[in-house]
Amino acid sequence: MNILFIEDDAIETMKLQRTTVKLGLKHNIIEAKNGEEALTVLNSNSPLPDLILLDLNMPRMNGIEFLKILKADVNFRYLPTIVLTTSQNRADLLECYRIGIAGYILKPLKYEDYEDKLKKVLEYWDINELVKA
Ligand SMILES: [Mg+2]
Repeated sequence: MNILFIEDDAIETMKLQRTTVKLGLKHNIIEAKNGEEALTVLNSNSPLPDLILLDLNMPRMNGIEFLKILKADVNFRYLPTIVLTTSQNRADLLECYRIGIAGYILKPLKYEDYEDKLKKVLEYWDINELVKA
């Protein structure tokens, strides 16, 4: 899968890369540091991602702002987007589901738990029929 990973924390980005390598997954990860950068990626001529993993707390354009723009766009609204966050704020969770997400995953503190959650999410989406660009 082509995965657009939207995350401002470079350590989190390294963690995702390391985890996919460790799990032997052959996904192509495209990185964006905030919503603005992610929109630039989506509006470029490269193929659309199969899946979006989205952080919420980011500078410039946060996850919820990005999600609103994504879901209002006829070309992008069908891209399955999974929130990957440390925010346990119920208002954030409700707002994300209201706008339209495919999942809301809390980032675990323990690496083993992170690896386990990520493996399950990616395996699940890998067996789905995806909207190919
Ligand atoms: Mg963040």
